[in-house]
Amino acid sequence: MSENQQYSFFESVLRSFDKAARFTSWDPGILEQIKACNSVYRMKFPVKIGDSVEVIEAYRVQHSHHKTPCKGGIRFSMEVNQDEVMALAALMTYKCAIVNVPFGGGKGGIKIDPKRYTPYELEKITRRYTAELIKKNFIGPGTDVPAPDYGTGAREMAWILDTYVAMHPGEVDAAACVTGKPVSQGGVRGRTEATGLGVFYGIREICNMPDVMEKLGLSVGMKDKTVVVQGLGNVGYHSAKFFREGGAKVIAIAEWEGAIFNADGLNEEEVFQHRKTTGTILNFPGSTNLAINTDALELECDILIPAALENVINNVNAPKVKAKIIGEAANGPLTPEADEILSAKGTLVVPDMYLNAGGVTVSYFEWLKNLSHVRYGRMEKRFTENMNKHILGQIEDLTGKQVSESERKFIEHGADEVDLVHSGLEETMITATREIMDIWKSNPEIPDMRTAAYISAINKVATSYAELGIFP
Ligand code: NAD
Repeated sequence: MSENQQYSFFESVLRSFDKAARFTSWDPGILEQIKACNSVYRMKFPVKIGDSVEVIEAYRVQHSHHKTPCKGGIRFSMEVNQDEVMALAALMTYKCAIVNVPFGGGKGGIKIDPKRYTPYELEKITRRYTAELIKKNFIGPGTDVPAPDYGTGAREMAWILDTYVAMHPGEVDAAACVTGKPVSQGGVRGRTEATGLGVFYGIREICNMPDVMEKLGLSVGMKDKTVVVQGLGNVGYHSAKFFREGGAKVIAIAEWEGAIFNADGLNEEEVFQHRKTTGTILNFPGSTNLAINTDALELECDILIPAALENVINNVNAPKVKAKIIGEAANGPLTPEADEILSAKGTLVVPDMYLNAGGVTVSYFEWLKNLSHVRYGRMEKRFTENMNKHILGQIEDLTGKQVSESERKFIEHGADEVDLVHSGLEETMITATREIMDIWKSNPEIPDMRTAAYISAINKVATSYAELGIFP
């Protein structure tokens, strides 16, 4: 029986935690505190849908208060239950700690099928849920800050903000009560591509580590690395885009209806447009169709990016996976059995908990923007451009030579909001990758990068608890 079937989702998270905790020397009491979900709020509320009243079940879990606010998405799905929300909140604590985002983990869920409701009904449900959170102090810029997840997006976040503002008139920091908002409502530029870009930055950093590449039999750097991407949604599309722009070759892309292959590389935007007009990824000019979409997972390649669903690599196909590196862009794309099989084969599995943290990292930047009440780059962009222009002019005068127009544009450019958000994300992913790799290299007994990532999270949260002091 697989680990997934034997244990609940939350219990599986606890098991992964315990596997990593034995490589640390923290007080068992502190470890118990880290594992526990601090606050679980289960609510039921009535909403008038058509002529009848529906009782809606919903949750908000605050897993850890070692740092505040708590942070985590809100999902709308019929699969929502207490165990799932608790597990996802715990994973948020660890994810934030790994990428040095100073938040505790949280998660929310409303047990509904959003497709069954009109936008007006969804708005009523979202606003009522927000009111319930406000009543119990489960939302606020300094207490708990939701974000989008399955079934929710910028629209729902705008409704949450509006409800919060209506009930907190005059609260100057109210916009920071939720992230993932539309830019016009205080959202930040660069959020859409954040997860895919974070995946690229993380894998690129690993590919720049000579010792890791030597072990895998790969050359250092991204140039001409072959990449296979599963899923051409938000994360898959942007991962493919940044890998291609970074010098790699995306040789195959898989969607649910099939997969395509081209040894010379695919352009994700052209594939996306082809799918939009023909309704399928198949028959893309210059590429070969693969009979079954999951065949793409077994192609000869350097890097495999599953960016669609969970459990797509399991005990059946894991032995046939030939990629040297698997970057878990999706949440939970490997079953525990697949993880063990690939680890034994020497495949480097780069874990989801840190690799797909680009979204929460940029949420943190959005929160900071809302608290500072100024767009990133507004104060310094022109100053930098004027200074760069002046320096370049001086150099050209002194040397008597001129740079090309494209170089001039590049050198003189002062940073916009999106440049700063990308740069902050790059720094975050590079630092987190190095920290995890240092932990992994420090002890040959640590079996894989996932365990090293958990150790990184445990050390940071435990340090925080230890330095806070436990109330006597
Ligand atoms: P999405 O819905 O935009 O994209 C998913 C894509 O996968 C869709 O295009 C879908 O058609 C495709 N797909 C479905 N079944 C498939 C199959 N059998 N084979 C191949 N492709 C298939 O979702 P997303 O936001 O890109 O999220 C993808 C994964 O990344 C999820 O696991 C999500 O939890 C995770 N994730 C997303 C974010 C984010 O910021 N969007 C952040 C962290 C983690």
